[in-house]
Amino acid sequence: MDLARRTNGIDHILCPASVAVVGASRKLNSIGGSILSNLLQDGFTGRIYPINPTAEEVQGLKAYPSVTAVGESVDLAVIAVPVKAVEQVVDDCVRARVKGLVIITAGFAESSAEGRALERRILEKVRAAGIRMVGPNCMGVLNTDRKYRLNATFTPIYPPEGNIAILSQSGALGLTILDHVKALNLGISSFVSVGNKADVSGNDLLIYWASDPNTDVILLYLESFGNPRKFARIAPEVVRQKPVIAVKAGRSAAGSRAASSHSAAMASLDVAVGALFEQAGVIRTETLEDMFDLAALLATQPVPEGPCVGVVTNAGGPGILLADACEARGLSLPQLAPDTVDALRAFLPPHAGMANPIDLVGSDDPALIERAMTLVGNDPNIDAVVVIFIPPLLTTRPEDVAAGIGRGAAAIPRYKPVQGVFMSALSKPELLSTGERGRIPSYAFPENAAMALAAAYQYGQWRKRPVGRACTLDPVVTATIRQIIDAEVENATKPFWLPATDVGVILDTVGISYARSIEVAIDEVSSASEQVGFPVVLKAIAPGLVHKSDVGGVVLGLETPQEVRDAAIRMREQLAKIGIQLEKVLVQREVRNGIEMMIGLTTDPVFGPLLVCGMGGVHVELIKDVAFRLTPVHDRDAEEMIAQLKSAPLLRGYRGGPPGDRHALIQTILRISALAEAVPELLELDLNPVKVLPPGQGLVAVDARMRICPPGAVEARRTR
Ligand code: ADP
Ligand code: MG
Repeated sequence: MDLARRTNGIDHILCPASVAVVGASRKLNSIGGSILSNLLQDGFTGRIYPINPTAEEVQGLKAYPSVTAVGESVDLAVIAVPVKAVEQVVDDCVRARVKGLVIITAGFAESSAEGRALERRILEKVRAAGIRMVGPNCMGVLNTDRKYRLNATFTPIYPPEGNIAILSQSGALGLTILDHVKALNLGISSFVSVGNKADVSGNDLLIYWASDPNTDVILLYLESFGNPRKFARIAPEVVRQKPVIAVKAGRSAAGSRAASSHSAAMASLDVAVGALFEQAGVIRTETLEDMFDLAALLATQPVPEGPCVGVVTNAGGPGILLADACEARGLSLPQLAPDTVDALRAFLPPHAGMANPIDLVGSDDPALIERAMTLVGNDPNIDAVVVIFIPPLLTTRPEDVAAGIGRGAAAIPRYKPVQGVFMSALSKPELLSTGERGRIPSYAFPENAAMALAAAYQYGQWRKRPVGRACTLDPVVTATIRQIIDAEVENATKPFWLPATDVGVILDTVGISYARSIEVAIDEVSSASEQVGFPVVLKAIAPGLVHKSDVGGVVLGLETPQEVRDAAIRMREQLAKIGIQLEKVLVQREVRNGIEMMIGLTTDPVFGPLLVCGMGGVHVELIKDVAFRLTPVHDRDAEEMIAQLKSAPLLRGYRGGPPGDRHALIQTILRISALAEAVPELLELDLNPVKVLPPGQGLVAVDARMRICPPGAVEARRTR
């Protein structure tokens, strides 16, 4: 995708030469009135036209009865009239050939079916006219670029100019965010409250900000996704250029549906969002506070090239807290180079701690702190510097120390980030930024600094990784599989489990090996067992029976035809007792070695197919050591999925156990992903377990199920 200065028409909204405020009331406390007064007060550089049918003049400006009545070109119209009047105003805007609309008014898709229909009609009108529209139901837009100074919101807060772009899906929260940004002395480039996202979506804004020269960091406060698969395509391209930080609300709200496969049981909306962000390289923070802590770092400092942190502190405790928080998040505090230690020793008091963290034991001498920082920051073993300062005495002048830290930071190579932890109620963090190096982020606690640094490091690692490749199926393979699926869905009206034989053939066709199995009636088990070869596993097949071992439907370790026969008869009796009619059984070759993993697929109504990989076996839901990704999954994703499992060490050979064929596991993930792309009807799939054999020997699936949704049964797919 070419992201070279693509504006998508968003510039008509954020960079207008003229703005009409429709519903510009003379009352300053009305929404229209306050938007007009904000445009005026914050010094919008273009022309402003209040639209008010009953006034000659509003806030000192000539008012017009309609946008068409202005008689001059209007780039942006901000609409704050009652919901009943909006459609008519939009018609007027279309006639007046405005280029952008911001609809503040609420009462649309968020509130009623009627509102939804109205929103749809308006959307059709603006699309037909080639107008871009933000909202409805939003707080407005803001652009601090001096060329525009556009505050088309109803909040009186005008944040400082800066390089952070913000999208907020919540109007009320947008206000708080702007307030907070101002309090933290962070600067923003532009802010868009997207409301119902009828036209302009998060995806449009990502593309716009990716090439916006004023924006270096993008923050997203999201409550829902309109088109997550488009986001999955766009976001990685954007993230390669600038960091995107997101908070997605409603983490816990997702209830997991009654699900019949392991894969579906472990998925939730939150899991899908997590997978999406992870594979797109979007940094997800737990809280808004974390979001701003991280933004403060990324907006002012370079991304650390490595994980090695050098710490200068004047108090032991916070130094330890910082070290712990760093290590818990994948950063480290290495020993400093001998030259650095010698140089430090030459001027630090004899009782100072020389092992990283460098502990200045209570010193509040700005020159000492400055020198220590300079040396640590220039140490070749160090990628990032954190300075912690607690005023030891009431007489300490934090201002002087802050200025000293600013000077120290200036002497550290520019490619290494510097953070301050200024633990003082009298803190003067602004003064940290008086050095040549400019703004240095200041944190209230060591953990905040560590969180931000670790996230920035992760982001840097993500950005460095090569672009991954997904796998696609050979056309011949696809044709074979399509034939099977087409035959099965022909008469189906609702989702169904694919017969075991079909599953076996499909796996075989895509190149995933499946334990030799034969489906037979009970009286044929002995001959079947001789065909698959001993040792044998016997598995129950009955309608509606999904988790076989739950009901004694799996018997392992059968060594002779007689044992297989006896086991089959016993199984039939046992299942009959609990009302299950054993129709057939699966006679399967037992795979004794191998590490049990699982690979699965489930379909989210909004996010589409999600692939899951994790530790396998009958306890997967209990252990829940799994990683999810949206399809198509490429090789880097597959590697990361495996690496992030707690059970990853098993594959490397744990406690004398043989290692597993990681490569085969990755290939299987890629093939399942390709299968999902080729077969959109594939609703759920469980390969649980797959037995991962030692390196070079591949893997074998011993239990496989696929659930298919006939193309017409989309509704069933949604409600499932
Ligand atoms: P279900 O998941 O329906 O309970 P499975 O076919 O997965 O039934 O079998 C349950 C467990 O039995 C598996 O997790 C695995 O540990 C073991 N098992 C099943 N089939 C085989 C096999 N062919 N070789 C070795 N172990 C097997
Ligand atoms: Mg199983």
